[in-house]
Amino acid sequence: MKVVALVGGVGGARFLLGVKAALGMPALGEGDRESPHEVTAVVNIGDDAWMHGLRVCPDLDTCMYTLGDGIDSAKGWGRVDETWSVKEELAAYGAEPSWFGLGDRDIATHLVRSRMLRAGYPLSAVTEALCDRWRPGVRLLPISDDRVETHVAIEDPATGEPAAVHFQEWWVRHRAEPVANAIVPVGADEATLAPGVAEAVAEADVVLVAPSNPVVSVGTLLAVPGFRAALRSTKAPVVGLSPIIDGRPLRGMADACLTAIGVETSAEAVGRLYGSRSESGDGVLDAWLVHTGDKADVPGVAVRDVPLLMSDVDATAKMARAAFAAAGLSVPEGS
Ligand code: GDP
Ligand code: CA
Repeated sequence: MKVVALVGGVGGARFLLGVKAALGMPALGEGDRESPHEVTAVVNIGDDAWMHGLRVCPDLDTCMYTLGDGIDSAKGWGRVDETWSVKEELAAYGAEPSWFGLGDRDIATHLVRSRMLRAGYPLSAVTEALCDRWRPGVRLLPISDDRVETHVAIEDPATGEPAAVHFQEWWVRHRAEPVANAIVPVGADEATLAPGVAEAVAEADVVLVAPSNPVVSVGTLLAVPGFRAALRSTKAPVVGLSPIIDGRPLRGMADACLTAIGVETSAEAVGRLYGSRSESGDGVLDAWLVHTGDKADVPGVAVRDVPLLMSDVDATAKMARAAFAAAGLSVPEGS
């Protein structure tokens, strides 16, 4: 079975662990037995930024470290057993940004990536090279090799003046507290899909939209020209899983992003935002899974309610199985 998943960082990475487990693959790493199944993750790059001259790709790295068993699982991002000497030294120089945590081990990843990018390799090739070490057991494809960066229009908390800041500055430095007047995936208009993305979607047996941030993770993927069309034309069913449970995002501040684009924080509103492949002009869903007890009416989309809490790999694997079932596929347990 060929599975494509649309993912962001922490939510997406956790979901991928469950997808692998549901297919009988080891959740961590690639194992020693060749799997008959293939999982491709199309990963958001809108959070990517240059920091201290290094290219940082938070969502790609969260997926890579999580699936490759190198993540700090308490924080959900960054490397396990991390040390912070470089950060302390940078602070001693007063070098900004001081609000972004780059650990020593993590910096090695960014050094390798930045060097390869400067030598002319596209991000997709760099990611493949980094994954040679991490062996995530999933093909990680950035949505594009072009630069797409999410920017947020706010009032600068220090000056009160209108400002457009990088998503990371709003999210990490300001904790999404200044009201976002707009959220824009800068560069998306002119970006093209990375090699392999359209093909993976066209050849998939099922496409899953992970319970990732609907605006700055999934929304950014959908903003890249050609991606919606690929999702709308694939023969594979497209099944989404709601990141909103009981009117709230889990871990994080996705509600601030939804409010910025004028969408209510509810499973129904996010389902409608993604829309129906058959009944809306540019929708992408055939089925939408909401958490047990949540209700959603999404015209043209089959809605089911199942437990959607990714409390551990087993619970997440059940979610993936429910998504396969909603797509009309069945995967034998332990296959
Ligand atoms: P980020 O890039 O690190 O912010 O991660 P993602 O965009 O992949 O995922 C963030 C989203 O995951 C948030 O909007 C959360 O609501 C959602 N999320 C986190 N944990 C869970 C969970 O256990 N169940 C569901 N359904 N959604 C979750
Ligand atoms: Ca992210």
